[in-house]
Amino acid sequence: MTTTDFSSLRTTLLEWFAAHKRPLPWRRDYQPYEVWIAEIMGQQTQVERVAEYFTRWMELFPDVAALARASEQDVLKAWEGLGYYSRARNLHHAAAQLMARHAGALPADEKMLRDLPGIGPYTAAAILSIGFNRPCPLVDANVERIAARLRDLEEPVKSAPGKKAVADWASRFLDETRPRLCNEALMEFGELVCTPKNPRCAECPLVSSCLAHRSQSVALRPVLKPRPTRIDVTLACGIIRHEGRLYIQQRCANDRWGGLWEFPGGGVEANETPEQATLREILEETGWRVRISGFFRTVTHCYTRYRVTLHCFWCELEPGQSPQPRLNAADQYAWVKEAELARYPYPSGPRQLVEALLDGK
Ligand code: SF4
Repeated sequence: MTTTDFSSLRTTLLEWFAAHKRPLPWRRDYQPYEVWIAEIMGQQTQVERVAEYFTRWMELFPDVAALARASEQDVLKAWEGLGYYSRARNLHHAAAQLMARHAGALPADEKMLRDLPGIGPYTAAAILSIGFNRPCPLVDANVERIAARLRDLEEPVKSAPGKKAVADWASRFLDETRPRLCNEALMEFGELVCTPKNPRCAECPLVSSCLAHRSQSVALRPVLKPRPTRIDVTLACGIIRHEGRLYIQQRCANDRWGGLWEFPGGGVEANETPEQATLREILEETGWRVRISGFFRTVTHCYTRYRVTLHCFWCELEPGQSPQPRLNAADQYAWVKEAELARYPYPSGPRQLVEALLDGK
Protein backbone atom coordinates (compact mmCIF):
# COMPACT_ATOMS: atom_id res chain seq x y z
CA MET A 1 0.00 0.00 0.00
CA THR A 2 1.25 3.47 -0.84
CA THR A 3 1.22 6.47 1.47
CA THR A 4 -1.74 7.81 -0.53
CA ASP A 5 -3.61 4.54 0.00
CA PHE A 6 -3.07 4.84 3.77
CA SER A 7 -4.14 8.47 3.72
CA SER A 8 -7.39 7.65 1.93
CA LEU A 9 -8.03 4.63 4.20
CA ARG A 10 -7.50 6.82 7.27
CA THR A 11 -9.82 9.55 5.99
CA THR A 12 -12.59 7.02 5.35
CA LEU A 13 -12.16 5.34 8.71
CA LEU A 14 -12.05 8.60 10.67
CA GLU A 15 -15.26 9.75 8.96
CA TRP A 16 -16.87 6.47 9.90
CA PHE A 17 -15.64 6.85 13.49
CA ALA A 18 -17.02 10.39 13.78
CA ALA A 19 -20.45 9.04 12.85
CA HIS A 20 -20.40 5.80 14.89
CA LYS A 21 -18.23 6.42 17.95
CA ARG A 22 -19.87 5.04 21.13
CA PRO A 23 -20.14 7.49 24.05
CA LEU A 24 -18.01 5.47 26.49
CA PRO A 25 -17.43 7.07 29.90
CA TRP A 26 -13.62 7.32 29.62
CA ARG A 27 -14.05 9.15 26.30
CA ARG A 28 -15.53 12.25 27.93
CA ASP A 29 -12.20 13.96 28.57
CA TYR A 30 -9.59 11.19 28.22
CA GLN A 31 -8.07 11.53 31.69
CA PRO A 32 -4.96 9.28 31.80
CA TYR A 33 -6.16 7.72 35.10
CA GLU A 34 -9.49 6.81 33.51
CA VAL A 35 -7.83 5.49 30.35
CA TRP A 36 -5.54 3.33 32.48
CA ILE A 37 -8.44 1.82 34.46
CA ALA A 38 -10.49 1.23 31.28
CA GLU A 39 -7.51 -0.42 29.56
CA ILE A 40 -6.85 -2.81 32.45
CA MET A 41 -10.55 -3.65 32.83
CA GLY A 42 -10.80 -4.16 29.06
CA GLN A 43 -8.26 -7.00 29.04
CA GLN A 44 -10.43 -10.12 28.47
CA THR A 45 -13.69 -8.20 29.02
CA GLN A 46 -16.39 -6.84 26.66
CA VAL A 47 -16.67 -3.05 26.37
CA GLU A 48 -20.29 -2.89 27.64
CA ARG A 49 -19.31 -4.77 30.79
CA VAL A 50 -16.23 -2.59 31.23
CA ALA A 51 -18.42 0.55 31.04
CA GLU A 52 -20.62 -0.79 33.84
CA TYR A 53 -17.69 -1.64 36.13
CA PHE A 54 -15.82 1.53 35.17
CA THR A 55 -18.69 3.81 36.25
CA ARG A 56 -18.99 2.08 39.62
CA TRP A 57 -15.19 2.13 40.07
CA MET A 58 -14.98 5.89 39.43
CA GLU A 59 -17.66 6.53 42.05
CA LEU A 60 -15.57 4.58 44.58
CA PHE A 61 -12.08 5.60 43.46
CA PRO A 62 -12.33 8.82 41.41
CA ASP A 63 -8.56 9.37 41.29
CA VAL A 64 -5.21 7.75 42.03
CA ALA A 65 -5.19 9.08 45.61
CA ALA A 66 -8.58 7.50 46.38
CA LEU A 67 -7.46 4.18 44.92
CA ALA A 68 -4.21 4.23 46.91
CA ARG A 69 -6.12 4.98 50.14
CA ALA A 70 -8.63 2.14 49.66
CA SER A 71 -8.25 -1.23 51.38
CA GLU A 72 -7.36 -4.23 49.21
CA GLN A 73 -10.69 -5.81 50.19
CA ASP A 74 -12.61 -2.80 48.83
CA VAL A 75 -10.60 -2.89 45.60
CA LEU A 76 -11.20 -6.63 45.15
CA LYS A 77 -14.90 -6.16 45.90
CA ALA A 78 -15.16 -3.46 43.20
CA TRP A 79 -13.41 -5.83 40.78
CA GLU A 80 -15.50 -8.86 41.71
CA GLY A 81 -16.84 -10.60 38.60
CA LEU A 82 -14.16 -9.30 36.20
CA GLY A 83 -11.80 -12.19 37.01
CA TYR A 84 -7.98 -12.21 36.79
CA TYR A 85 -7.78 -10.56 40.21
CA SER A 86 -4.06 -9.90 39.96
CA ARG A 87 -5.09 -6.98 37.71
CA ALA A 88 -6.98 -5.36 40.61
CA ARG A 89 -4.13 -5.96 43.04
CA ASN A 90 -1.65 -4.49 40.54
CA LEU A 91 -3.82 -1.38 40.10
CA HIS A 92 -3.88 -0.94 43.85
CA HIS A 93 -0.09 -1.34 44.22
CA ALA A 94 0.55 0.90 41.21
CA ALA A 95 -1.64 3.63 42.73
CA ALA A 96 0.52 3.55 45.89
CA GLN A 97 3.66 3.87 43.74
CA LEU A 98 2.14 6.75 41.76
CA MET A 99 1.44 8.57 45.02
CA ALA A 100 4.98 7.92 46.29
CA ARG A 101 6.88 8.74 43.09
CA HIS A 102 4.71 10.87 40.80
CA ALA A 103 2.45 12.91 43.11
CA GLY A 104 -0.55 10.80 42.11
CA ALA A 105 -0.32 11.47 38.34
CA LEU A 106 0.39 8.99 35.57
CA PRO A 107 3.69 9.88 33.89
CA ALA A 108 3.70 10.46 30.11
CA ASP A 109 6.79 8.31 29.78
CA GLU A 110 6.92 4.72 28.57
CA LYS A 111 9.69 3.54 30.86
CA MET A 112 8.11 5.08 33.96
CA LEU A 113 4.74 3.60 33.06
CA ARG A 114 6.26 0.14 32.54
CA ASP A 115 7.90 0.34 35.96
CA LEU A 116 4.39 0.20 37.45
CA PRO A 117 2.92 -3.22 38.32
CA GLY A 118 0.56 -4.61 35.68
CA ILE A 119 1.64 -2.23 32.89
CA GLY A 120 3.26 -4.01 29.94
CA PRO A 121 4.25 -2.63 26.51
CA TYR A 122 0.68 -2.61 25.13
CA THR A 123 -0.93 -0.90 28.14
CA ALA A 124 1.86 1.70 28.30
CA ALA A 125 1.35 2.48 24.59
CA ALA A 126 -2.42 2.66 25.08
CA ILE A 127 -2.10 5.11 28.01
CA LEU A 128 0.35 7.24 26.02
CA SER A 129 -1.72 7.19 22.85
CA ILE A 130 -5.29 7.45 24.22
CA GLY A 131 -4.56 9.27 27.50
CA PHE A 132 -1.82 11.65 26.32
CA ASN A 133 -2.42 11.65 22.54
CA ARG A 134 1.18 10.55 21.86
CA PRO A 135 2.06 8.88 18.52
CA CYS A 136 2.24 5.22 19.61
CA PRO A 137 0.74 2.60 17.26
CA LEU A 138 -1.46 0.09 19.10
CA VAL A 139 -1.75 -3.53 18.04
CA ASP A 140 -4.47 -5.58 19.70
CA ALA A 141 -6.67 -8.39 18.36
CA ASN A 142 -8.87 -5.84 16.54
CA VAL A 143 -5.94 -4.32 14.69
CA GLU A 144 -4.47 -7.74 13.89
CA ARG A 145 -7.78 -8.78 12.38
CA ILE A 146 -8.34 -5.60 10.36
CA ALA A 147 -4.78 -5.54 9.00
CA ALA A 148 -4.85 -9.26 8.18
CA ARG A 149 -8.12 -8.88 6.27
CA LEU A 150 -7.32 -5.65 4.47
CA ARG A 151 -3.98 -7.10 3.37
CA ASP A 152 -5.25 -10.70 3.04
CA LEU A 153 -2.31 -11.77 5.17
CA GLU A 154 -1.49 -15.47 4.87
CA GLU A 155 1.04 -15.54 7.71
CA PRO A 156 -0.36 -16.35 11.18
CA VAL A 157 -0.68 -12.99 12.98
CA LYS A 158 1.16 -14.34 16.03
CA SER A 159 4.15 -15.58 13.98
CA ALA A 160 7.24 -13.34 13.71
CA PRO A 161 6.54 -12.28 10.08
CA GLY A 162 2.82 -11.87 10.83
CA LYS A 163 3.57 -9.65 13.87
CA LYS A 164 5.95 -7.54 11.82
CA ALA A 165 3.46 -7.14 8.96
CA VAL A 166 0.69 -6.04 11.37
CA ALA A 167 3.00 -3.70 13.33
CA ASP A 168 4.20 -2.05 10.09
CA TRP A 169 0.61 -1.66 8.92
CA ALA A 170 -0.52 -0.11 12.26
CA SER A 171 2.46 2.21 12.25
CA ARG A 172 1.77 3.44 8.71
CA PHE A 173 -1.93 3.87 9.46
CA LEU A 174 -1.17 6.22 12.37
CA ASP A 175 -1.37 9.95 11.68
CA GLU A 176 1.15 11.43 14.09
CA THR A 177 -0.95 14.56 14.51
CA ARG A 178 -4.04 12.56 15.57
CA PRO A 179 -2.79 9.34 17.18
CA ARG A 180 -5.62 8.98 19.71
CA LEU A 181 -8.25 9.35 17.03
CA CYS A 182 -6.57 6.88 14.64
CA ASN A 183 -6.10 4.20 17.29
CA GLU A 184 -9.58 4.57 18.71
CA ALA A 185 -11.14 4.49 15.25
CA LEU A 186 -9.38 1.20 14.46
CA MET A 187 -10.45 -0.43 17.74
CA GLU A 188 -14.04 0.72 17.33
CA PHE A 189 -14.14 -0.49 13.73
CA GLY A 190 -12.88 -3.90 14.85
CA GLU A 191 -15.51 -4.04 17.61
CA LEU A 192 -18.48 -2.90 15.51
CA VAL A 193 -17.85 -3.77 11.84
CA CYS A 194 -14.83 -5.97 11.16
CA THR A 195 -15.81 -8.36 13.95
CA PRO A 196 -14.23 -11.80 14.51
CA LYS A 197 -17.40 -13.63 13.41
CA ASN A 198 -19.83 -12.41 10.74
CA PRO A 199 -18.09 -9.12 9.87
CA ARG A 200 -20.50 -6.59 8.39
CA CYS A 201 -18.80 -6.42 4.97
CA ALA A 202 -22.02 -5.34 3.22
CA GLU A 203 -21.94 -2.02 5.07
CA CYS A 204 -18.16 -1.70 5.44
CA PRO A 205 -16.72 1.66 4.33
CA LEU A 206 -13.37 -0.03 3.58
CA VAL A 207 -14.72 -2.82 1.39
CA SER A 208 -13.15 -1.49 -1.80
CA SER A 209 -9.70 -1.64 -0.15
CA CYS A 210 -10.16 -5.07 1.44
CA LEU A 211 -8.06 -7.75 -0.25
CA ALA A 212 -9.58 -10.59 1.79
CA HIS A 213 -13.05 -9.53 0.67
CA ARG A 214 -11.88 -9.39 -2.93
CA SER A 215 -10.40 -12.89 -2.74
CA GLN A 216 -13.32 -14.25 -0.65
CA SER A 217 -11.00 -15.26 2.18
CA VAL A 218 -12.47 -13.10 4.96
CA ALA A 219 -13.47 -16.16 7.00
CA LEU A 220 -9.86 -17.40 6.81
CA ARG A 221 -8.31 -14.16 8.11
CA PRO A 222 -6.61 -13.63 10.42
CA VAL A 223 -4.75 -16.94 10.43
CA LEU A 224 -4.49 -17.96 14.08
CA LYS A 225 -2.60 -20.68 15.88
CA PRO A 226 -4.83 -23.54 17.01
CA ARG A 227 -6.39 -22.97 20.45
CA PRO A 228 -5.01 -25.08 23.30
CA THR A 229 -7.34 -27.90 24.28
CA ARG A 230 -9.72 -27.25 27.15
CA ILE A 231 -9.04 -28.89 30.51
CA ASP A 232 -11.98 -29.96 32.68
CA VAL A 233 -11.53 -29.59 36.44
CA THR A 234 -13.97 -30.87 39.08
CA LEU A 235 -14.09 -29.26 42.52
CA ALA A 236 -16.28 -29.73 45.57
CA CYS A 237 -16.93 -27.54 48.59
CA GLY A 238 -19.16 -27.28 51.63
CA ILE A 239 -21.25 -24.50 53.14
CA ILE A 240 -20.89 -25.21 56.84
CA ARG A 241 -23.81 -23.98 58.98
CA HIS A 242 -23.43 -23.46 62.70
CA GLU A 243 -25.72 -21.58 65.08
CA GLY A 244 -27.35 -19.54 62.31
CA ARG A 245 -24.07 -18.53 60.64
CA LEU A 246 -22.09 -19.73 57.62
CA TYR A 247 -18.37 -20.37 57.46
CA ILE A 248 -16.16 -18.61 54.87
CA GLN A 249 -12.39 -18.33 54.64
CA GLN A 250 -9.97 -16.01 52.89
CA ARG A 251 -7.45 -17.52 50.49
CA CYS A 252 -3.75 -17.08 51.32
CA ALA A 253 -2.16 -13.87 50.03
CA ASN A 254 0.33 -15.72 47.81
CA ASP A 255 -2.45 -17.71 46.12
CA ARG A 256 -3.72 -16.93 42.59
CA TRP A 257 -6.98 -15.75 44.18
CA GLY A 258 -5.26 -14.38 47.30
CA GLY A 259 -7.44 -12.03 49.35
CA LEU A 260 -10.70 -13.47 47.99
CA TRP A 261 -13.12 -15.52 50.08
CA GLU A 262 -14.62 -18.96 49.53
CA PHE A 263 -16.31 -21.94 51.12
CA PRO A 264 -13.73 -24.62 52.06
CA GLY A 265 -13.18 -27.30 49.43
CA GLY A 266 -10.88 -28.36 46.60
CA GLY A 267 -10.23 -30.82 43.79
CA VAL A 268 -12.13 -34.09 43.47
CA GLU A 269 -9.52 -36.83 43.17
CA ALA A 270 -9.75 -39.95 41.00
CA ASN A 271 -11.99 -42.64 42.57
CA GLU A 272 -13.52 -40.07 44.91
CA THR A 273 -17.09 -38.72 44.88
CA PRO A 274 -17.71 -34.97 45.26
CA GLU A 275 -19.18 -35.69 48.72
CA GLN A 276 -16.02 -37.59 49.79
CA ALA A 277 -13.85 -34.78 48.42
CA THR A 278 -15.85 -32.21 50.39
CA LEU A 279 -15.38 -34.11 53.69
CA ARG A 280 -11.66 -34.67 53.03
CA GLU A 281 -10.95 -31.08 51.93
CA ILE A 282 -12.76 -29.57 54.90
CA LEU A 283 -10.83 -31.84 57.28
CA GLU A 284 -7.52 -30.88 55.60
CA GLU A 285 -8.25 -27.15 55.43
CA THR A 286 -9.91 -26.59 58.82
CA GLY A 287 -9.34 -29.69 60.97
CA TRP A 288 -13.13 -30.16 61.24
CA ARG A 289 -15.08 -33.37 60.84
CA VAL A 290 -18.38 -32.47 59.21
CA ARG A 291 -21.37 -34.39 57.92
CA ILE A 292 -23.19 -33.57 54.70
CA SER A 293 -26.82 -32.65 55.31
CA GLY A 294 -27.82 -31.95 51.70
CA PHE A 295 -26.84 -30.98 48.17
CA PHE A 296 -26.90 -27.23 47.43
CA ARG A 297 -26.06 -26.90 43.76
CA THR A 298 -23.46 -27.32 41.00
CA VAL A 299 -22.04 -24.32 39.15
CA THR A 300 -19.64 -24.11 36.22
CA HIS A 301 -17.33 -21.40 34.97
CA CYS A 302 -14.35 -21.06 32.63
CA TYR A 303 -11.03 -19.32 33.02
CA THR A 304 -8.07 -19.36 30.62
CA ARG A 305 -8.26 -22.91 29.23
CA TYR A 306 -9.94 -24.51 32.22
CA ARG A 307 -13.62 -25.35 32.57
CA VAL A 308 -14.44 -25.76 36.25
CA THR A 309 -17.40 -27.69 37.67
CA LEU A 310 -17.96 -26.96 41.35
CA HIS A 311 -20.29 -29.17 43.43
CA CYS A 312 -21.50 -27.64 46.67
CA PHE A 313 -23.07 -29.32 49.71
CA TRP A 314 -24.64 -28.17 52.96
CA CYS A 315 -22.52 -29.33 55.90
CA GLU A 316 -22.85 -29.41 59.70
CA LEU A 317 -20.07 -29.70 62.26
CA GLU A 318 -19.92 -33.10 63.93
CA PRO A 319 -20.77 -32.64 67.64
CA GLY A 320 -18.14 -31.73 70.22
CA GLN A 321 -15.91 -29.57 67.99
CA SER A 322 -14.85 -25.99 68.60
CA PRO A 323 -16.15 -23.55 65.95
CA GLN A 324 -12.59 -22.23 65.67
CA PRO A 325 -10.83 -23.88 62.68
CA ARG A 326 -7.15 -24.84 62.34
CA LEU A 327 -6.43 -22.92 59.15
CA ASN A 328 -4.26 -24.80 56.68
CA ALA A 329 -5.24 -23.17 53.38
CA ALA A 330 -6.48 -19.74 54.37
CA ASP A 331 -5.25 -16.54 56.00
CA GLN A 332 -8.39 -15.85 58.02
CA TYR A 333 -11.98 -16.96 58.46
CA ALA A 334 -15.38 -15.60 59.41
CA TRP A 335 -18.70 -16.96 60.61
CA VAL A 336 -21.26 -14.70 58.94
CA LYS A 337 -25.00 -14.36 58.67
CA GLU A 338 -26.32 -15.12 55.20
CA ALA A 339 -27.09 -11.46 54.44
CA GLU A 340 -23.49 -10.50 55.34
CA LEU A 341 -22.03 -12.71 52.58
CA ALA A 342 -22.48 -9.90 50.05
CA ARG A 343 -19.82 -7.78 51.78
CA TYR A 344 -16.95 -10.08 50.79
CA PRO A 345 -15.21 -10.51 47.39
CA TYR A 346 -15.18 -14.05 45.87
CA PRO A 347 -13.74 -15.79 42.81
CA SER A 348 -16.21 -16.84 40.14
CA GLY A 349 -17.43 -20.25 41.43
CA PRO A 350 -18.05 -19.24 45.08
CA ARG A 351 -19.56 -15.95 43.88
CA GLN A 352 -22.17 -17.87 41.87
CA LEU A 353 -22.97 -19.89 44.99
CA VAL A 354 -23.28 -16.75 47.13
CA GLU A 355 -25.56 -15.09 44.54
CA ALA A 356 -27.76 -18.20 44.49
CA LEU A 357 -27.92 -18.19 48.31
CA LEU A 358 -28.83 -14.52 48.44
CA ASP A 359 -31.41 -14.94 45.68
CA GLY A 360 -32.92 -17.78 47.73
CA LYS A 361 -32.52 -20.21 44.83
FE1 SF4 B 1 -13.51 -6.28 7.51
FE2 SF4 B 1 -15.32 -7.09 5.69
FE3 SF4 B 1 -14.58 -4.54 5.83
FE4 SF4 B 1 -12.88 -6.36 4.92
S1 SF4 B 1 -14.80 -5.76 3.99
S2 SF4 B 1 -12.42 -4.71 6.37
S3 SF4 B 1 -13.41 -8.09 6.21
S4 SF4 B 1 -15.68 -5.70 7.42
